Amino acid sequence: MRILASSIFALALLLFVSHRANAQMFEPGETGSQKIGTNCVVYHLRKDKISNDSDIGLQCQSKKGWPATSHDVPFIVLPMMSALYNAERAYCGSPGCSAPNKDVRLVLIGDPLPNLSITSSKAKAGEDTDSVTILITTTLIDFVLRTGHLVLNDLLEDAELAPQGFNAFLNNQRSLGGKSCSLPVQWNNLSVSKKINEDTIFRIAMTSFQILFAHEFAHLLSNQTCGYKKDPKLSSDANTLGLEKACDHMAFTVLAKQNMAMPLFFTAALVAWENYIILKRPQLIKDFPGGELKFREAFPSLQFRERAGSSVSEWEQSCKQNPNVPMCNVWQDAVRYARKLIASAPPAACVP
Ligand SMILES: [Zn+2]
Repeated sequence: MRILASSIFALALLLFVSHRANAQMFEPGETGSQKIGTNCVVYHLRKDKISNDSDIGLQCQSKKGWPATSHDVPFIVLPMMSALYNAERAYCGSPGCSAPNKDVRLVLIGDPLPNLSITSSKAKAGEDTDSVTILITTTLIDFVLRTGHLVLNDLLEDAELAPQGFNAFLNNQRSLGGKSCSLPVQWNNLSVSKKINEDTIFRIAMTSFQILFAHEFAHLLSNQTCGYKKDPKLSSDANTLGLEKACDHMAFTVLAKQNMAMPLFFTAALVAWENYIILKRPQLIKDFPGGELKFREAFPSLQFRERAGSSVSEWEQSCKQNPNVPMCNVWQDAVRYARKLIASAPPAACVP
């Protein structure tokens, strides 16, 4: 497995492609952020189009939220914005190309649930431009950064790092199940093991952010359907899972053409995400405005292991056909490892 670790480091370097944004868009690190409400930070990514943000204000007034300013730091924002641009470029050639002449907003929301969405809105009175909004919660950002780091700790096969590895993390999640538990939702992303540098975490995180954002662009560019046709014979949950998997497939296909579809760390983020929701679900439903029905509407498909499994199978297929590309470096070991993560036992729910 040592070989896997060193190859993954090399792979992460290869996958990190930084191009210049086109002239209409801010470079990562060039745009300033604005605070909205109690718990949001917004970045306007297109230089000449700015809407007044009134349409996103409501979601940024949560009493239970916390300021997203904790995540408004270069360590987090730079890889996220680079990944966003890479994902969009994979679809149509350049940052901003999927939303020409629209204000493109990246919004960080301080929120205890991992979540991500993309929406398109028409200009309101007093605004001169339509907008596209990509919302990402601080907790999802934590999952991406933290799980990438944890997996690397395990891949290094160093006894000293094992307590900070992904397996130890999964064991801890399982130990919380079945009792009353309070889960950490704000993690310290900035503490890095001695044997891993920040730059590596950065690059590893980008591999997952690219897949997440490419999935969102798939929604945006296909009128939210990703080409999936609802089957009236299926439950609404099954239809939603079908739709999400169709978007994952679109994302994988475009990223693979650019050598950016390497879902190993993405898998770890999805497994941790599913476990977290399983643990918290009784409490979440209790707290969710509108109760269980509204919760299920807001989070219709939580089968992240299933989605991760499909992405890993696509990766395997793609690498069997075309093994000599960077995203297929050590794919056999990496696919085996990803499948082990997916097969790991989930925790029982916490007692609210
Ligand atoms: Zn989706």
